[in-house]
Amino acid sequence: MTELSLSQVTRRYGDVAAIDNINLGVAEGEFLTLLGPSGCGKSTTLAAIAGLDRPTTGRIALGDRELFNADEAIFLPPEARGFGVVFQSYALWPHLTVHNNVAMPLKLRRMPADQRKKRIAEALELVGLSAFASRYPGELSGGQQQRVALARAIVFRPPILLLDEPLSNLDAQLRQQARVWLKDIQRELGITTIYVTHDQDEALAMSDRIVVMRGGKIVQLGTPEQVYGAPLHPFSASFIGNANLVEVEGEQGVQGDGCIVKLADGQILRGHAPGDRLSSGQQLLSIRPHKISSAPLAGASEIKVEFGTESYLGDHFEQQVTVAGSTLRLTLETPVAHGPGSIWIKPEDAAVFSNE
Ligand code: ADP
Repeated sequence: MTELSLSQVTRRYGDVAAIDNINLGVAEGEFLTLLGPSGCGKSTTLAAIAGLDRPTTGRIALGDRELFNADEAIFLPPEARGFGVVFQSYALWPHLTVHNNVAMPLKLRRMPADQRKKRIAEALELVGLSAFASRYPGELSGGQQQRVALARAIVFRPPILLLDEPLSNLDAQLRQQARVWLKDIQRELGITTIYVTHDQDEALAMSDRIVVMRGGKIVQLGTPEQVYGAPLHPFSASFIGNANLVEVEGEQGVQGDGCIVKLADGQILRGHAPGDRLSSGQQLLSIRPHKISSAPLAGASEIKVEFGTESYLGDHFEQQVTVAGSTLRLTLETPVAHGPGSIWIKPEDAAVFSNE
């Protein structure tokens, strides 16, 4: 299996590391997403893979073929790597028809005209634009231009497809459709794909695995179910799926991965510690809004709170409660009357992390 691997890849700009010691293996045919807030190093990682940027240290290889090795002064330029790339700005040639835009990578590779014609027809068919071959980019919608950019990136059958926020210029509804469409094409082609986004929904919906990044480092790498359901870091918990984070005191120690923590007002809660082993003292408690119950639950800790403002969100309510000086958000089918009350949280839904 041809695996793309990044080993100890760092890119420094002066004293600042845009990416810092990235280690990553991408399996053949995998859809891997780099997810994180703006400035966390996603595009720098992608540019290093594409050969559009030269890292400061490390090694990048496709199978046993080295694309970059800082120690050996190996650096293959983008054209020698031959990966398909789609950026947020589609960068189509405005003076060329759709057909000729898609033809360009094949012309550069000196493919004979008859073969070229067949490949272009296949690529346009795949992206659903066969009828638009003779139009110019200016005569297409944003979504259609995006499809042309994708056709151009896959027409020469690259081993790897690199996509940097390719859907971010589309409106919300089109974006949702494009996700499904893009994922279907990726599956049909079985092409190894690395996808950059800051949109957690997009990452969860499309990826085989997600790399959660922060400050140039990998925070967590796992399947969508793992990074959403079992975050190993409070950053994953809050960035993916809106967790409530509360500072707690963890003085009562750890049993297995279960633990007992104390809120600032002295109330006790049972949780679990999915990350590193906890030290005593200040810790962070993370709870998903939909995992907090306003009715008693077997095995759950009861916490006295003050119910506050609710917002109607169409298919559910979101309500705020305050406890020990912190505000938590709950999702509820029906809001609870304002004032004192209780919430219930199960230990498996109360993740406790070391407070950095
Ligand atoms: P992302 O794609 O996650 O938004 P980037 O990879 O673009 O993040 O950037 C990571 C960090 O590196 C940011 O802090 C950014 O300011 C910095 N950076 C990126 N490119 C340059 C550059 N050419 N010169 C200096 N700093 C840069």
